[in-house]
Amino acid sequence: MLTMNQEAPNIRGLYINGEWVPASGSFDSFDPSSRSLYARIPDGTARDVAAAAEAAHSAFPAWSGRPFHERAHLLLKIADVWERRKEDFVKATVKEGGGWLGKGAFEAGYVAEVFRSAAALCYQNIGEVLPSEHGKVSTATRWPLGVVGVISPWNMPGILTSRGFAAALAVGNTIILKPSEDTPYAGGLYFAEILEEAGVPKGVFNVITCSRDSVMAVGDEMIENPLVKAISFTGSTAVGRHIAAKAGAHLKKCCVELGGKDSMIVFDDADLDKAARAANFGSFMHQGQICMSTEKLLVQDRVFDSFMGKFLPRVSRLKTGVTTDPENTIGPLINERQAIRVRGLLDDAVAKGARVEVGGKSWDNFVEPTVLTNVNASMNIWHEETFGPVVIAVPFSSEEEAIALNNDTDYGLTAAVWTEDEARALEMAGKLETGMVHINCQNVNDEPHVPFGGVKASGVGRYGGRWSLDAFTELRWITLDRGGRHFPPVF
Ligand code: NAD
Repeated sequence: MLTMNQEAPNIRGLYINGEWVPASGSFDSFDPSSRSLYARIPDGTARDVAAAAEAAHSAFPAWSGRPFHERAHLLLKIADVWERRKEDFVKATVKEGGGWLGKGAFEAGYVAEVFRSAAALCYQNIGEVLPSEHGKVSTATRWPLGVVGVISPWNMPGILTSRGFAAALAVGNTIILKPSEDTPYAGGLYFAEILEEAGVPKGVFNVITCSRDSVMAVGDEMIENPLVKAISFTGSTAVGRHIAAKAGAHLKKCCVELGGKDSMIVFDDADLDKAARAANFGSFMHQGQICMSTEKLLVQDRVFDSFMGKFLPRVSRLKTGVTTDPENTIGPLINERQAIRVRGLLDDAVAKGARVEVGGKSWDNFVEPTVLTNVNASMNIWHEETFGPVVIAVPFSSEEEAIALNNDTDYGLTAAVWTEDEARALEMAGKLETGMVHINCQNVNDEPHVPFGGVKASGVGRYGGRWSLDAFTELRWITLDRGGRHFPPVF
């Protein structure tokens, strides 16, 4: 029997054209720690998306035509409202997303900066003046696209939702957001409350929540609706491929940030104390449910045992359990499906000869932080994104072997390299097939103004800073002739 959680938010409806609109059905959002009902959420349809697209399209001329500094001021206001209400977000993300309190607090602080850095984008140059063969004023200028559809995941509902739309909004686009069905409030309707309070004009920002059963129809409409000009997607590689293919068929811009199978490489000259501490954070922060989580620890054979001697005791000190207790750094996996999937990867590896060095236990939606050794490429965990609190530790002997082991994946999001030899590290960075490399740090790094993104099956496009402009603007060549252009006399 489900009981409504006492801290349930006040769900007012879908958010379309500045109004809270009822949906024809609803679905349940759960607290993954207790598996109890968190909130009853409107189950939007393709028709709701079409209404939101109309609203966003109508709002576009006024929003994109507004002086850039006014858009910046509004983004700063959003940051202020967010900041004032950030305790509400922390509660929502801990309850609905199953995160540790510290993760919620970090996320809440980060999101305000996402909006502030987006405000700064309003003051960037919007084009270049080119030389002209004919003495024309020849310019390449950036223009907003129109309506942008944003589809976000559940694991960092604050950061990854705001990152998906803040820059797009700053440069004059209008938005339809579809958050994950696992965090429809923290990653969706909560943003509608904030932007409404900040005074964002009607239709500029719209939120359509929907269940996993409705997502195919809703997602298709978000891409196929002719009023939607581009898609901003963060999520799994499987869904991202489908979205990018569909967007391609409709010749629409699409920025997709997808999964990862990220390695941290530890050389024998590394500071092993620091590396062990960093590996613990990179592997187990938010139960390993971060696209950049450290999933493969590659450790030079000469220091493998001494590294593990420092790493394993740290891991065994992490406490697992319900996230209302701040002592529990390791909370639940987001849902039963994910818990079953991660347990399946563990069981497959152990059945094929992997050794559990620490952890290994699981119950309900919880999986203890687990370290596996004796792992090889026949095991599913070698290739598949784990997205859970399980890391594999593998010895290597040479630089070449470390590079080969790092690159032996379809993914290419981040890599981390530990060595005191900076020249070697920079040389390695060039050979690792990832969009991002962090030297003497672990894999989980992001800042609002940097070019964040992957290569290979980890995505196409970049979020962050001026690089977001490629995703959210159209570059147009515009010339002004002043009588210098000559034509053949026959014309
Ligand atoms: P997911 O792909 O299952 O869902 C992501 C979003 O897509 C959700 O909003 C979901 O409702 C929606 N969706 C699902 N099917 C759809 C369809 N047919 N049409 C339209 N939308 C659809 O991913 P998830 O489980 O929410 O997130 C975890 C995954 O996201 C992991 O693979 C992780 O690595 C990846 N991720 C990547 C980044 C990055 O920046 N590279 C960041 C965070 C998460």
